[in-house]
Amino acid sequence: MRLGLAASHLHRSTPDAALFRWIRSCETGIRELDLELCAVGGTYDAIVREGLLKHYPGLVRYPSGHNGGLVKLVAGIADSSPSREALDGIIYLVNPVDGSSLFPESIALRRQCVVHQKPFVSTVASAQDWIETERIAMGMRGNPNADRFHAFSEQGIALIAHDAMKASMLEFATTHFNLLCRFALRIATSTTGDILNELATRLGWSHETPWVTCYESGPMGGDAQIANRIFERSCQRVVFLENPHVAHQHEADIQLLERAVAATTYETVCITSAKPAFRWAESACLRVQLRDPT
Ligand code: PGA
Repeated sequence: MRLGLAASHLHRSTPDAALFRWIRSCETGIRELDLELCAVGGTYDAIVREGLLKHYPGLVRYPSGHNGGLVKLVAGIADSSPSREALDGIIYLVNPVDGSSLFPESIALRRQCVVHQKPFVSTVASAQDWIETERIAMGMRGNPNADRFHAFSEQGIALIAHDAMKASMLEFATTHFNLLCRFALRIATSTTGDILNELATRLGWSHETPWVTCYESGPMGGDAQIANRIFERSCQRVVFLENPHVAHQHEADIQLLERAVAATTYETVCITSAKPAFRWAESACLRVQLRDPT
């Protein structure tokens, strides 16, 4: 598997910066998965400077951002051929107060990941969770260090789908209803939440409280309300099925939600399209079976 890797300056500027914390916590998993990491110049140089991933043949240097490194990542995500340039996903540790997170390269990178249903991993928590998801998908036993990402009964999950993606959200929630039931809290934007509550009733949810708590619709401020819950640390996982093919009147709200996710990089996991969402959920179920084989 080949991933693009980039980190905002803040996330690679000190020895305990986010990029290095992720690599230190996941180096064994990176090697077990034999991941190829195509790191843009400054990010690659920082990893070498810190002495991490020493002698790891999978670490490859791409040009720096201003020399086309990020554009190469975008092109790699768009490439679905078996070529050496094609990428299976992106880890881009974003600093929300760094203006580069709003550069066209950054926005296109995220968007192309959504278009091609490849993972766009924007936080340390998401990157740690993704490694565990892939380890489990490969049949490895769960790493106890990742247990906190599976303590669903102590966590909240946000479920949001743009209109064209509501059918995918319904399919996701139907397939993984039992897994989603394990969360302490489910929250959603208005229309998505209404559809999910109807589903829950059909599937026999008969509690006094609705299955999912509905906020305003996205364009009416629901994304901002969910961003607020993220900052309050009551929502640790976001499944946001975005429609990348239409302009959104509430683009600012969508970005605000993304920035809330990035600002809580050690706590919040965010999944931006259906295929990675299914992959995560399937692995989460498998992880329990591998631990408690019956
Ligand atoms: P909705 O909002 O669930 O109310 O449709 C989602 C969005 O458009 O952000």
